[in-house]
Amino acid sequence: MSVSFRGGIHPRYAKELSNDAAIERLPPPDEAIVHLSQHIGAPAVAVVKKKQEVKKGEVLGEAAGFVSVPVHAPISGKVTNIGLYPHPFGSLQEAVVIESDGKDEWTDLPKEVKPDSLDREEIKDRIRDAGIVGLGGAAFPTHVKLSPPPAKNIDTVLLNAAECEPYLTADDRLMQEEPDRVVSGFIALKKVLGAKDAVIAIEENKPEAIAAMEKAVAKAKGKAVRVVHMHVKYPQGGEKQLIDAVLGREVPTGGLPMDCGVVVQNVATCAAVDDAVRFAKPLISRVTTVTGEGVNGPVNVVGRVGTPVQTFIDAAGGFRGTPGRVILGGPMMGGAIHNTDIPVIKSTGGILVLTPEQVPSGEFDSCIRCGRCVRACPIHLCPNDMGNYSEVEMWEELEGLDVNDCIECGCCSYSCPANRPLVQFFRYAKLWIRQQQALAKAAESKDER
Ligand code: SF4
Ligand code: SF4
Repeated sequence: MSVSFRGGIHPRYAKELSNDAAIERLPPPDEAIVHLSQHIGAPAVAVVKKKQEVKKGEVLGEAAGFVSVPVHAPISGKVTNIGLYPHPFGSLQEAVVIESDGKDEWTDLPKEVKPDSLDREEIKDRIRDAGIVGLGGAAFPTHVKLSPPPAKNIDTVLLNAAECEPYLTADDRLMQEEPDRVVSGFIALKKVLGAKDAVIAIEENKPEAIAAMEKAVAKAKGKAVRVVHMHVKYPQGGEKQLIDAVLGREVPTGGLPMDCGVVVQNVATCAAVDDAVRFAKPLISRVTTVTGEGVNGPVNVVGRVGTPVQTFIDAAGGFRGTPGRVILGGPMMGGAIHNTDIPVIKSTGGILVLTPEQVPSGEFDSCIRCGRCVRACPIHLCPNDMGNYSEVEMWEELEGLDVNDCIECGCCSYSCPANRPLVQFFRYAKLWIRQQQALAKAAESKDER
């Protein structure tokens, strides 16, 4: 039996472009630009100086508070600069630049330990010190997710192995090729949380991954882990949709999975957790899918953090003709970039190149009230009304329609025959609401003074 949720869409998945491509390793770059902000929370603070020699895995920036993680050197070499560089999210941000010494030499790491020999706090400390963040795209520090307030009774840890974004196959390949590593990391997370139930939820379009993970779970006897099959539907991997489909629980409006006793983790995160727990290895590389009709040969590659996007595109045989758009992530939730010299960060799980013909024109019409977006919305919002209010900037009315609950999945825009840019409307509206709240707070604190 397989499970699913209400709403959602069935886009063209295009996984066949890269799901047969075994994971390859990119050589270390000659120069790595390592951003100090690669996660949600406070950016790390640089602890190295210009001209300093560093080894691979050495700390470049220390965590600046609880909701923050350290960043580490992805190559060995010399620090040539610490300054502002283009960030994948669009702004200039502080980064440490390392010029390779060609040796690719690790810093001293402790001997391998068996995860069972560590207690919960020791596992969590290793995860934090390794700079592990959610690698499904959100980049939330993992040790924070593993520290729910005592009042939250976490009984279930859920491995989000849906990989429902079209085109992306990095998690699929990781589960096929290294299932034991993924399952081992997942079991370590279950131990930290003290959860009774541990569920690995995989979409049915990954039969090889399902078989590999079931085999790995069978080997981990006595650890109470189970595999659940899910229908193929987007956004099956959205946390709320996943919890609804697998556990039949509802995350309250404005709440988090922990509010219904669940912590959700991602496939690549579990693999990184296993490296951290067993070997104290910091997160300096990850699997990334480089795909789309705009490259010559889609691939899944392990690349170092700080490597330019262009190096990944070259590994996929380069652009096929003139590129239409380069997207970090998938077509539904990824963000376009305009400069392929920018470096990848920990959360870069996909690089998608579209052809010019695949790029929407940007022209749109008025809403014809067909209701398709309402049927598609997995959060059960009214995207049509929200879109109409956004277009004429009726912000207060929008707040009343719970625009802040929108997960920006893009199902509404995808379904709209009038090509209305609904997600862009909602992003703008949410930004406006946040600004108004910040202004109100500032005015309040001024009054108190
Ligand atoms: S309104 Fe938001 S949550 Fe609903 S379909 Fe559109 S983007 Fe997704
Ligand atoms: S799908 Fe587009 S045209 Fe149809 S109701 Fe929604 S916004 Fe209007």
